[in-house]
Amino acid sequence: MDTNLNEQLAAWIATGGNRLGQIQIEQSDEATFALTHVDDIDQPRDSLILLSDLAAMRAWTRSNEAGDLRPLKTSPDLRPGWLVLAGDIVALREALECLYPGMVAAYFRHLAGRAAPVSLRETLERQTGMYRFARSISDAGAESLVEQVCQNQRCLKRVLWTLTAADAWSCFSKQKTSSETPEGEMPLLCLEPCFLIVAGARLTAKREHEATEKATS
Ligand code: SF4
Repeated sequence: MDTNLNEQLAAWIATGGNRLGQIQIEQSDEATFALTHVDDIDQPRDSLILLSDLAAMRAWTRSNEAGDLRPLKTSPDLRPGWLVLAGDIVALREALECLYPGMVAAYFRHLAGRAAPVSLRETLERQTGMYRFARSISDAGAESLVEQVCQNQRCLKRVLWTLTAADAWSCFSKQKTSSETPEGEMPLLCLEPCFLIVAGARLTAKREHEATEKATS
């Protein structure tokens, strides 16, 4: 675990940081920090299920309330009803890493100006094997795909990457592509397209190719 990141996290907490996506962080009598779902802030702590280790946290976050698998840890359907107690900043960081992998590091890299988002075109250029075909997706197809996959109802991350280094998305609100958040909230930052976008780009490119072939035959 990166000591510097733990120190940065501690400083963020000390200045009022208390929220990350659907997680609320409070000072606790039982331990140093208590983490709950934001919907459970007013619930008595003893009515919540204690997730006592990382395995329990992983198991809890694997599916939503309907029992469906959550392929994205940052989808907005984290089940409420749980409590995590962290005895120190290291345990807090481990819990946050388990619930939202990579998000604390991404935030502090961004704050330090060291987070360079990778554009969709750049990501697709790197693809090999069966995903190479994804490179041929049209700009319009890419915009439509990204709008559908990354919308807030599906993912809470802020989209900081664009189609090319020079473009901006027109499909999103200003908020969705900004790292600005209300005071005390750490944004969940998306610095490059995830596997859902790459897989979706391949499918879209294939459909576009088939449509062109049909139209010219
Ligand atoms: S690309 Fe980023 S914002 Fe879009 S769904 Fe994947 S993780 Fe979320």
